[in-house]
Amino acid sequence: MKGNSADCQIAVLGAGPYGLSAAAYLRAAGREVRVFGQPMSFWQDQMPKGMCLRSNWGASHIADPEKKLTLDAFCREKNLQLSKPIPIDAFVGYGQWFQSQVVPDLDRRSIQLVEPDEKGFRITLADGETFVSRRVVVAVGIKSFQSRPPEFDRIPAALVSHSGEHNNLGKFKGKSVAVIGAGQSALESAALLREAGAQVEVICRRQSLRWVGLHPQLHHLGLASKMLYSPRDVGPAGISRLVAAPHVFRKFPRWIQNRTAYRAIRPAVAGWLKSRIADIPISFGRQIVAAEVSGDRLRVKLSDGTERLVDHVLLATGYRVNIARYDFLAPSLMRNLKVTDGYPILKRGLESSVAGLHILGKPAAYSFGPIVGFVSGTEFASTELLRVVRAADSNGHRKT
Ligand SMILES: Cc1cc2nc3c(=O)[nH]c(=O)nc-3n(C[C@H](O)[C@H](O)[C@H](O)COP(=O)(O)OP(=O)(O)OC[C@H]3O[C@@H](n4cnc5c(N)ncnc54)[C@H](O)[C@@H]3O)c2cc1C
Repeated sequence: MKGNSADCQIAVLGAGPYGLSAAAYLRAAGREVRVFGQPMSFWQDQMPKGMCLRSNWGASHIADPEKKLTLDAFCREKNLQLSKPIPIDAFVGYGQWFQSQVVPDLDRRSIQLVEPDEKGFRITLADGETFVSRRVVVAVGIKSFQSRPPEFDRIPAALVSHSGEHNNLGKFKGKSVAVIGAGQSALESAALLREAGAQVEVICRRQSLRWVGLHPQLHHLGLASKMLYSPRDVGPAGISRLVAAPHVFRKFPRWIQNRTAYRAIRPAVAGWLKSRIADIPISFGRQIVAAEVSGDRLRVKLSDGTERLVDHVLLATGYRVNIARYDFLAPSLMRNLKVTDGYPILKRGLESSVAGLHILGKPAAYSFGPIVGFVSGTEFASTELLRVVRAADSNGHRKT
C-alpha cells in the first residue's frame, strides 16, 4: 500500500453531472469533499461528435445550490450563443466550466477499490494510493452497463461495437454499417454515419418509430402546459409531472412505478431528426438471430430469413443497470448491498443499505424513478444527499 493520505469526510467518485452537482452542494454547505474522475468523460468519450442533447435547455442545467452555474451563466461568461437542440461539445464545455468553478482541485485519478473500513471506507486509487473516507458518494454513471445482444458475443470488436464506444463515427466513412435499435441513439447515429459518408441501414424489432417533440406548441399553452409538463423534461404530458416528484412517485405501487417509468423513457426519436433520417432505410419488425464472420466482413441473419453482409454492426441497444458491474465495489461491500434486478435499493439521501454509501445517477432509478437518470435530476439528488449528510451530522451519528 503506497501513500497514506489523511482521512477525508466525503469522497465523491465521478465528475459527470451528478458528481459535480453533489460536490457543489456539499462544499457550499462547508463539507470537506474530495472528488475523483475525468470531468464529463462520458459525454466526451462515449457519445459521438455532432450529437445533440435530447433534454431541452431548461432541463440541462447541472444543479448548484445558488443556481449561479446554469447553462445561461456559462453562455454569458463565455459570450456564447448556443443553438437548440444543444450540441454535445457545448454541453461538455459547460460541464468542464462547472467543474472549474466548483472543483478546481478535481483529482482525475480513477478509483480501483472501495472497501469497508472501521472509520468508513478504504479507497484505493488506480496508482495504488489509499485513503479512508467516512462517507462515499458513487456517481460513476452508466458506462459499465452497456447492453449487447448475445449473438455478438464472439464477434471481434472490429466488426461490432456498442454505440457507447464511439466519440467519432467519421471513421466509418465509405463502410456499410447496420445499426441495431429504434431509439434516439440508433437513429441519430444512423444520421451521423450517413452524413459522414457511410452506407447505413437501421434494423429494429419495432414496427415503426416513436417520435417525441413533434408538437412543441403543447409546451406553450400557458398554465395548461405547466400543469402537464415539468421543466425537468422527462416523460410525456402528466407523467412528466409525476416523475418530477420522486418522493411522490416512490409511494405508488411497484407495478405503477414500473409502467410509468417505462412510459417516461421508452425508446423514441426526437422530432428534429426527422428530415435527417428521411432517406435512411429502416427494416422494421426484424431482429438479428445469428452473426458470423465472413472474411473481413460480418454476415447477419435476420428473423425474416434474410441476410446482410456488412463492414460493421453498431449496437444502439442501450444500457441495463447492474450494480455488480461496478467492479471497484469490494465483494465485502457488495455482500451487504441490497439489490433488486441489478439496482441498489436506496433510502432517503440516496443512501444504500451500507450506511454512508450513497449511489447517484441512473442506478438510483429503481428507488427514485427515471428522473435520476437525467441531468435535470441533479437538483433532487444533491438536495437529498445534503439533507441526509446534515441530519447525520446533527445527530452526531457517523459524523461527516
Ligand atoms: C447517448 C446518450 C445521450 C444522452 N443524452 C442526455 C440528454 O440529452 N440529457 C440528459 O439529461 N441525459 C442524457 N443522457 C443520460 C446521461 O448519461 C446522464 O444524464 C448523465 O451522464 C448522468 O450523469 P452521471 O454523473 O451520473 O454520469 P456520467 O456523466 O457518466 O459521469 C460519470 C463520471 O464518473 C467517472 N468515473 C467512472 N468510473 C470511475 C472510477 N472508477 N473512478 C473515478 N471516476 C470514475 C467518469 O470519469 C465521469 O466523470 C444521455 C445518455 C446517453 C447514453
